[in-house]
Amino acid sequence: SMDRWVGKVAVVTGASSGIGAAIAEQLVEEGLEVVALARRKERLDQLAKKLEGKKGKLYPIKTDVSKEEDILNAFKWIKENLGPVHVLVNNAGIVGNTNLSDGDSNVWRNIINVNVLGLSIATREAVRDMKANNVDGHIIHINSVVGHQLINAPNLNVYPATKYAVTALAETLRLELNSTKSKIKITSLSPGLVDTELIPDDYKQLDIFQKAFNDKAVLDPQDIADGVVYALSTPPHVQYFVVIIYVLRNT
Ligand code: NDP
Repeated sequence: SMDRWVGKVAVVTGASSGIGAAIAEQLVEEGLEVVALARRKERLDQLAKKLEGKKGKLYPIKTDVSKEEDILNAFKWIKENLGPVHVLVNNAGIVGNTNLSDGDSNVWRNIINVNVLGLSIATREAVRDMKANNVDGHIIHINSVVGHQLINAPNLNVYPATKYAVTALAETLRLELNSTKSKIKITSLSPGLVDTELIPDDYKQLDIFQKAFNDKAVLDPQDIADGVVYALSTPPHVQYFVVIIYVLRNT
């Protein structure tokens, strides 16, 4: 049941589109106070407007998770205005041409900054806040199937490397929290292909993606939001740690 989260503060990074927007919306419907972080503030404001009158509420904060200062400012605002953080969903993520043989290292750096460092910094701030307030919180990383198994697609080198890093960061944090008998939960939620703005046009030309879209072998953002609710709904002594969401072909 989601009862224990009603009225509690959740932070969702990358809540302006796709999976993050679906998660933020779902958590507001479940009655949480959801702090929505992303760079496109106007998208967050639109979502907040759409969710007026629901059980919970959306609080947009313009945040670039590749900037440590932005993340610190967001957590500071939350502390001063809303209270302890109970849930963090590390969803913000980017891809791009991450080909290792001829790609641009500035692109790689940016992807690592968002997918690995942004996630790490937000996690540190949430864990600190949860520990300081004695909150048995829940941290959910939106990882990927390519954080567990590799596919042979051109351009997909640094991106899966960042997701493997997320797998390692989740597991090492789980071990650390476990060794200190912390009740903070961590879930690494790994979707297969989801129909969002993430996939760049040059990826969509690739056979592997064309085939998936042709076969309608694609998940909806809502499927991942359902997964988040599923993980959050477990009783206090149960932890869903690695959840991989595969899609079954419609054809
Ligand atoms: P979208 O492009 O729709 O959403 C990405 C979100 O991340 C946006 O809200 C974007 O907001 C935000 N974001 C990107 N860069 C930053 C930044 N520097 N600071 C803050 N927010 C940022 O893609 P998805 O919904 O598909 O992606 C969400 C997550 O799901 C990612 O981690 C992705 O790796 C993962 N995923 C996606 C899959 C898919 O097939 N789509 C499959 C498996 C995992 P803004 O631009 O406004 O800052």
